[in-house]
Amino acid sequence: MKHNFGAGPGILPHEVLKQAAAAVVDFGGIGLSILEISHRSPEFESVLDEAVKLVKELFNVPEGYSVLFLQGGASTQFALAPYNLLPDGGKAAYLETGVWANKALKEAKFFGEVEVVATSKDKNFTYIPKDYTIPTDAAYFHITSNNTIYGTQLQEFPKSPIPVVCDMSSDIFSRKVNVADFGLIYAGAQKNMGPAGVTLVIVKDSILGKTGRKIPAMFNYQVQIEGGSMYNTPPVFAIYVSMLTLNWLKSKGGVAAIEKENIAKARVLYEEIDRNPFFKPVCEVEDRSHMNVCFVMENPDLEKAFLKLCDDKDIIGIKGHRSVGGFRASIYNALPITSVYVLIDAMQEFAEKNKV
Ligand SMILES: *Cc1c(COP(=O)(O)O)cnc(C)c1O
Repeated sequence: MKHNFGAGPGILPHEVLKQAAAAVVDFGGIGLSILEISHRSPEFESVLDEAVKLVKELFNVPEGYSVLFLQGGASTQFALAPYNLLPDGGKAAYLETGVWANKALKEAKFFGEVEVVATSKDKNFTYIPKDYTIPTDAAYFHITSNNTIYGTQLQEFPKSPIPVVCDMSSDIFSRKVNVADFGLIYAGAQKNMGPAGVTLVIVKDSILGKTGRKIPAMFNYQVQIEGGSMYNTPPVFAIYVSMLTLNWLKSKGGVAAIEKENIAKARVLYEEIDRNPFFKPVCEVEDRSHMNVCFVMENPDLEKAFLKLCDDKDIIGIKGHRSVGGFRASIYNALPITSVYVLIDAMQEFAEKNKV
């Protein structure tokens, strides 16, 4: 089997893939595929109920929050958050920590004023800005918990006087989070929660309905809440596979247990990057991501040769994003620590072979 370090769509647990494959042919022994049953059938309704229940359980979602499974990816949420939360002529605050944060704030400008409270653009987003003030007159404060491309992560969430909106696409369910500290959490499923095609939204009900704006049904969180994520046909298969993945996570001991594993995986890999003279880290130590580990080579001319060695060892998807270069090893929940050790072995072998 391959060691899949791809950034997204990312690795899924093998047992989930086997269950999903079986359900494509015959879903739960009913003689029909999961792909050809009604979304209003009791069979699918129980899948959706179970998925919502697992999200609430794994993330300890308090009363007063709704869990939605929507379409359009996290990129659609870049627009839906301001559409639903930012009144005309109002202001929203954004922390600019990378490409995704930047895309999010650009969408907000369609709806009102945007205040960028801090940015790490000056150093190509290799750190998380910390000294800033959140304006109390803004409708919300938008953050990106993990910067998939640059390999930085907020290790602490800001204490905010206004609702916090968080793009958790690339670290959702990787660590414990106090949902009550957030007004809105969203995440495209395809990094750490399931396949592409569905987006998780967790929204605090009391922050809705304050813009005075008319919002078309599909873009309106309130309508989606009332429809139970079934205002229209939901992405049945993507929700099913997400449900299986959440169930897998629960069987592994839930978020607290996977967080420990994720920390261990990240630690051994960063240790090797720091130790191995051929490689060097990219980001500020205190802001290093536990999901996307970015590193480069002391001698960039050797990058191709290292990629070739990785390829020979079935290490897949570690080429860095074009805006950073070098390498990015995404070590999402489903990636076993044994794969991380295979990568570390490859780095050591490469250093041994090339030393002068
Ligand atoms: C991948 C990613 C996105 C984009 O997600 P889509 O579902 O493709 O729209 C947004 N934000 C972050 C942090 C991501 O990692």
